[in-house]
Amino acid sequence: MRRVLILGLDGFGFDFARRVFDAGLMPFLAARSKEGSLSPARSTLPPVSTAAWTTISTGVGVGRHGILDFRRRDLPNYGFLEPGRLVSSRDVKAPRLWDLAGRAGLTSFILNLPVTFPVSALQGAMVTGVLTPPDSDRGYYPPAFAPHLKGYRYDLDEPVPGDLKGLCEALAALERRRAEVAAGAFGRDRYDLGLVVFTGPDRLFHKFYRDVCAAGEVPAAAAAYLRELDAACERTSAAFGADAALIVCSDHGFGPGPARAFHVNRLLRREGMLAAGVGPYVLNVVAGAFRRFAGGGALPVDWRRTQGYGFPLYMRWGGVILNVRGEQPEGCIAPEAAAATAARIIALLEREEAVAWARPREELFTGPLIGNIPHVVFALREGYVISEGKGPGPLVAPYGDAAKEGDHSPEAMALLAGVAGARVPADAAIADVAATAAALLGFGPAGMDGRPWV
Ligand SMILES: [Zn+2]
Repeated sequence: MRRVLILGLDGFGFDFARRVFDAGLMPFLAARSKEGSLSPARSTLPPVSTAAWTTISTGVGVGRHGILDFRRRDLPNYGFLEPGRLVSSRDVKAPRLWDLAGRAGLTSFILNLPVTFPVSALQGAMVTGVLTPPDSDRGYYPPAFAPHLKGYRYDLDEPVPGDLKGLCEALAALERRRAEVAAGAFGRDRYDLGLVVFTGPDRLFHKFYRDVCAAGEVPAAAAAYLRELDAACERTSAAFGADAALIVCSDHGFGPGPARAFHVNRLLRREGMLAAGVGPYVLNVVAGAFRRFAGGGALPVDWRRTQGYGFPLYMRWGGVILNVRGEQPEGCIAPEAAAATAARIIALLEREEAVAWARPREELFTGPLIGNIPHVVFALREGYVISEGKGPGPLVAPYGDAAKEGDHSPEAMALLAGVAGARVPADAAIADVAATAAALLGFGPAGMDGRPWV
């Protein structure tokens, strides 16, 4: 059995990692990648942090753990979102690494992993991550951990600095404090598994992708932040112990943000597959309440005459749910006709310049929760974003959101060090992280989709 430390870098893509390692901006991680190995790793579909970190910590895909989005979706109710209802740890339907480690009699320390709030008991200690309300007392376990969290913040304080230097300094302070909390825990107790996530890169790249990732040289303020992040990784790793295997991974990478919006429901409407208008069903009343999610010019849908309804899963990844009888409250497609309708929608989508590909969900996902994934899943080309709007207008329209300068790409990274002879394979996926940790810890990756690298 090997002790395992997993360091997570949110949004840190492979190309960017290689670039800043080569440039000498992150000497600790660069050295560990040289003695071990560094490779691209395929993210989840969609490559959204909640889905991806849940895959990293369970070793299974969306069809088994059930986290598809930041918000809860209710597909049997036409994919609508429950207002204000974000996903929580209770929505994760697969065992996490620390559950499996605990059953094997091993201890874990987990810090800042998304979708861990509210905390539940584990063999070890945990401080929850993204989606934890500030000042909550359900963000850590055991309760006796509280004194070690003085001055710790789950996220940046509002207002978040709008300039590059200010944001980098705020993020550096956050990562420093995280490393301090992790190193403190590792100094007091010996854990078999450590999992610490640093979320700063994602925050930085969303806002300053062009300046930091796309330009030739990393600006001084961002370079200083990256050095702090590297030092935080080094400090955490040193405190955990030099005898441990080290995995460093990200949940997704980054690419340029969108400039054009693709209105999937306008396409379905044009083809007579989605009917605007007021049907009798109470959902049309409910639909009004959701219009703010649905983009400009939203119209109520007449479900009795609607075969498919499209919406974004995350930015340029989206889905179309079919209005199947027995599945949806006002389903009008016979179940035996669903596959043909899906094929027709896929053909329609793939005729569009904006669409990279479209597939039936069965070709992309496996697992018992596949019913909560839209029947058709599709991706747009880089530079596009999916709009849910149903009102009249062009299929493709300019899109401008200054807060979305950069956006997620499916290319994450993985680094493995401290395991003689083992390498991250070129076709690695982020689900492999949990499988590798499980193999090293000695309880094995049974039931996981990921494949161990050892
Ligand atoms: Zn992320």
